[in-house]
Amino acid sequence: MSHHATIEVDKAALFKSLEQGILAFEKGFPLEDFKKGNYGQHPLITLLTCADSRMPVNIFGDIFNRIFSVENIGNQVKTNEGSVLYGLLHLHTPLMIVAGHSDCGAIKAAESNFVDEPMGIRNELSIVKNSLEEARRKSGLSFDDEPGLKFSKLAEVNVDRQIDYLLANYAVADLVEKNELLLLGVMMDLHNIYGNGYGMLYTSNINGERNSSILKSYSHLGLLADRARRLTSY
Ligand SMILES: [Zn+2]
Repeated sequence: MSHHATIEVDKAALFKSLEQGILAFEKGFPLEDFKKGNYGQHPLITLLTCADSRMPVNIFGDIFNRIFSVENIGNQVKTNEGSVLYGLLHLHTPLMIVAGHSDCGAIKAAESNFVDEPMGIRNELSIVKNSLEEARRKSGLSFDDEPGLKFSKLAEVNVDRQIDYLLANYAVADLVEKNELLLLGVMMDLHNIYGNGYGMLYTSNINGERNSSILKSYSHLGLLADRARRLTSY
């Protein structure tokens, strides 16, 4: 795994920005809406995204009482399966988003030798590694491109694996079947790998469908249908 060089951090500025964030949250606290919902949580989206700080939850809009967010390295269902299922089966969010991204560090690390990492990191990287092995097996793709493209393709197919894994759960598949749940796979192209600009979001999978032309025909999904685009097809 790569380690970042130590950089000089202005801790005073860090705590100041933290203070500003807390004060802004307190000031903007949506008490009226919260009261209307009987002070409970009523999220609309279960989100599984990579913990990478360039993948902020607010890509998908307001967070408070709207997004039930699960984040881990490499956006793996298995790492936090209970939390994901809690969002789907108990909070009954009508939408589940699995979000991967270009040049994912977890995917790079899972492709490298990580035996010297602490056990906690090894455990989570092993889950990513298994997903990538399955990605290779099920897609039949070789992923022998230059690194930027290779890791982004792997990230895309890794999102497919998460959606397939969810669909293999009978209770989840039943909700999808009854049209009470939509499983949406997306890729955040931080690095302009897809070629339409930096920081663009693409739809790569809906309920297991990964044919871009078919995804584009889901016009009721608006922008998400327009943005159907993939690096891989299989
Ligand atoms: Zn990542």
